[in-house]
Amino acid sequence: MRPIPSFSLHRPKTLSEALELLQALEDARPIAGGTDLLVLLRDGAVSAKHLIDLGGVHELQYIREENDEIRIGAATTHAQLLRSELIAEKTPLLHEAAASIGSVQIRNRGTLGGNLCNASPAADTAPPLLALNAEAAVASTGGTRIIPLGDLFAGPKMNSLRPGELLTEIRFPTPPAGSGTSFQKLGRRRGLTLAVINVAVYLCLEGGVCREARIALGAVAATPIRMPAAEEMLEGRQLSGELIEAAASACRDQVRPIDDIRASAEYRREMAYVLTRRALMDAWERARRDTL
Ligand SMILES: Cc1cc2nc3c(=O)[nH]c(=O)nc-3n(C[C@H](O)[C@H](O)[C@H](O)COP(=O)(O)OP(=O)(O)OC[C@H]3O[C@@H](n4cnc5c(N)ncnc54)[C@H](O)[C@@H]3O)c2cc1C
Repeated sequence: MRPIPSFSLHRPKTLSEALELLQALEDARPIAGGTDLLVLLRDGAVSAKHLIDLGGVHELQYIREENDEIRIGAATTHAQLLRSELIAEKTPLLHEAAASIGSVQIRNRGTLGGNLCNASPAADTAPPLLALNAEAAVASTGGTRIIPLGDLFAGPKMNSLRPGELLTEIRFPTPPAGSGTSFQKLGRRRGLTLAVINVAVYLCLEGGVCREARIALGAVAATPIRMPAAEEMLEGRQLSGELIEAAASACRDQVRPIDDIRASAEYRREMAYVLTRRALMDAWERARRDTL
């Protein structure tokens, strides 16, 4: 096995220290859990002279609710997401996505920020957060900017962060009463598997009518994506099995998957229909229960 090329490791204790190091050092990269980055360094897919370890920056590890918004620090691990009662109760789809990631060891080390910044089209936390209408807080020594989460993804394994920037927080509105969500993932086996395709749905009902629908899919395009045409088909309408099938078909038409080692494009397109229909039915059922 190829050894990982040598690098200098820096261990800041605060966010401002981390940002200053990232700004000052040439050829520096942040590292959180290292579960993606160390593999890429070993394979020579990326290089770095300096790694800035975010593991000791405790101000980037939190999950809290403030003014009807849920805020999650970028260095929060998947295991911490799983242990959060707030996440399990208010955003079960994110809990389900975190539970599906890798193994106990990967969930203990891997972080939400790393999963998003690695920008894999198949990242499991991306569709749930897109469906929750999440925004990303991005900081540099010059200040903080807020971007829609979708703008963080620039292409396969490419994020849109500028040199010297760190993802610091993910935030989204707390789902209101009458909403229901679902996360569905298909892998090549039941556990410890990357997604062949993953789907997240958020529905908000009012008197049986769908007030808001958000559908996001992963591993079907160059980045995780929302499905606006299918969402529009549902919004303002009384939901039914037929309408849900039609929206799921629209997703099959919109996706642009590729053939790769995990599945063919044709199979992924068909599974986009199957998993979206399943996610919509599940979210609809949960939303109806929430309104009782
Ligand atoms: C065996 C195995 C199984 C896996 N299973 C899954 C799975 O089922 N589903 C899944 O989605 N993924 C899976 N992964 C991928 C990986 O574990 C996750 O993507 C994980 O969340 C990455 O987080 P990390 O903290 O380890 O990121 P790191 O490896 O530390 O970083 C990843 C990238 O993000 C950058 N980065 C990290 N934090 C920040 C930040 N705050 N600001 C800016 N840039 C940052 C790094 O520079 C690097 O480019 C698996 C990996 C392995 C090795």
